[in-house]
Amino acid sequence: MILVITGPSGSGKSTVRRILTERFGVPRLMNVTTRDKRPGEVDGVDYLFITGDGFEQMKSQGKLIEWVEYSGNFYGLAKSDSMDGVTVLETEGALRLKKMFPDEVKIVYLEVPEETRRDRMLGRGDTPDEVVNRLKTDREKFENSGIKQRSDLIIHNMDLDRAIEEILRIIKE
Ligand code: ADP
Repeated sequence: MILVITGPSGSGKSTVRRILTERFGVPRLMNVTTRDKRPGEVDGVDYLFITGDGFEQMKSQGKLIEWVEYSGNFYGLAKSDSMDGVTVLETEGALRLKKMFPDEVKIVYLEVPEETRRDRMLGRGDTPDEVVNRLKTDREKFENSGIKQRSDLIIHNMDLDRAIEEILRIIKE
């Protein structure tokens, strides 16, 4: 099964993914990005942090299953032998992956009020400009994407332990 965590910026996708992998041993599919590493993130663990040229190279060599430009940076999902595990994708990527592997993909949507997301993004060290930009992009992206209706599970990620519990339940189903 491919568990896709999606939702707007600051909804807790990376955090949830990290806990599933580190505490519960859910394998991680490798995401690559050209964005800067945030404090506390580890190269090869949270993402493979690569340059724009490196990204182009992976793309042209067919090493990415899908990719997207978001907020001025590129994000992609790398191919691996066993497509089994958890990954973080934005809406389009999540829906594309579900189309490619309808039987394997389960989409979990993390829902968190905008005010809370703003606070969390500032709390993790995003600049105010970045936060404004991400909130604006997300308003456009998520409102009309139909992603919520097509998700297998919608989680209000206010209480992290509860959110993880709900996700583990869908993995075990
Ligand atoms: P995303 O990957 O969706 O942009 P992150 O995983 O980076 O979001 O989470 C944004 C910030 O919110 C991080 O600092 C994280 O520690 C915090 N966070 C995530 N989930 C929760 C939660 N349920 N309660 C409180 N803080 C949270």
